[in-house]
Amino acid sequence: MSIFNKGQQALASRIDIGTDIVKWKDWRWQLKNSIRSVERFEFLTGITFDDAEKRRLQKTFSHFPLSVTPYYLSLINRDNYTNDPVFKQAFGSVQELEVQDSEFSDPLAEDKDSPVTGITHRYPDRVLFHVSNICSMYCRHCTRKRKVGDIDYIPSKEALKEGLDYIRGNSKVRDVLLSGGDPLMLPDDMIDWLLEEITAIDHVEIVRIGTRMPVVLPYRITSSLVDILKKYHPLWLNTHFNHPREITSSAREALKMLADAGIPLGNQSVLLSDVNDCPRIIKDLVHKLVQNRVRPYYLYQCDLSEGLSHFRTPVGKGIEIMESLIGHTTGFCVPTYVIDAPGGGGKIPVTPNYIISWSTNKVVLRNYEGIITTYKEPEKYETRLCDRNCKECEMELGLTEPDDYLALGIEKLLSDQDNTISLIPGDNMRHQNRKENGRSDNQE
Ligand SMILES: *Cc1c(COP(=O)(O)O)cnc(C)c1O
Repeated sequence: MSIFNKGQQALASRIDIGTDIVKWKDWRWQLKNSIRSVERFEFLTGITFDDAEKRRLQKTFSHFPLSVTPYYLSLINRDNYTNDPVFKQAFGSVQELEVQDSEFSDPLAEDKDSPVTGITHRYPDRVLFHVSNICSMYCRHCTRKRKVGDIDYIPSKEALKEGLDYIRGNSKVRDVLLSGGDPLMLPDDMIDWLLEEITAIDHVEIVRIGTRMPVVLPYRITSSLVDILKKYHPLWLNTHFNHPREITSSAREALKMLADAGIPLGNQSVLLSDVNDCPRIIKDLVHKLVQNRVRPYYLYQCDLSEGLSHFRTPVGKGIEIMESLIGHTTGFCVPTYVIDAPGGGGKIPVTPNYIISWSTNKVVLRNYEGIITTYKEPEKYETRLCDRNCKECEMELGLTEPDDYLALGIEKLLSDQDNTISLIPGDNMRHQNRKENGRSDNQE
């Protein structure tokens, strides 16, 4: 059972005298009473700032607005807020106004890869569908800061129909990822309608929801919402816990309701300086997640969004954390550490190196303990040349549809039926000169 602890009770009645647990647990009450100004924050927490600091904070919030749910606010440790991971994610700092040369407003080029409003189509088989422009809390480390504070809105059905038409018209899209903003900001009936529309599309095999509600507003996970979600299996849900302190009894209850409804749960954390950039904190987090049936999915290197430099860590910190997890804990506790490539290259996994050397018949590897070991390769392995003519192949794939898949990237270099021998950047001078001089070969 989620509790209404003393701190929350005091906070609730400071917001509105006589607020009881029923109101407190009403997600609409939480949204209506979200904290959006420095003064309100000061009044409710008793934390105060001097005039100069207040002016700088107000300036920060006029660029990147403030919004914190009373629930998430109640998790702040007021006695030590300057070191508090919840405070840092929710309240922000004046450092957000320091924009560096290497930072972008849209680091992942999501807007450039957007064929119609609301859709980012980067990978051929799956799309990101931004179905809401708002969140219940504005994370200070948001990668989509450029959109935060755009006139808050829930898109109309008409606006969403454009995205739906795009998905309908693209038979390669087998996976639709609802994102935003937070998709669970939509009212229940809209979520129901949207999921019905998407799952009715033949070529869509799975739907995923990306939401931070279990972390910042767990009361949004109501039994009526869960009853809607479970009609649309296979439906997956990824959430965003960054610190073990966020796994409260209310959060646990929300996760339990989702897991009991058969929804596979994943977690995407962001590595944040002075919040969770510590092997022990991450290990504690992943252990708590799996205890609540949530599989750690990604650990993100913090994106190059404007004003996030104070949150960023060196990549080495992430690798150090991965080193402390792989082999040291349950395999499914280990997320994949990724850098989302600036410019829109997608997620790139980064891990410590485990292959030390290689010969024609042996691989030398090291394990998590530092033991160096060899793996003897098979003496006989007949290479099966693949021309992708699966119908003629002795292996049983049992595919009936024709295979029109084209190998991509490094996969293309490895493939037998493609003659490409190298991938050459479009602006390579030497190759441009060759072209200009008519010496271009056809191996590009
Ligand atoms: C992260 C992301 C996805 C999903 O990637 P997975 O690795 O399949 O989880 C899809 N589209 C875009 C644009 C993304 O950023």
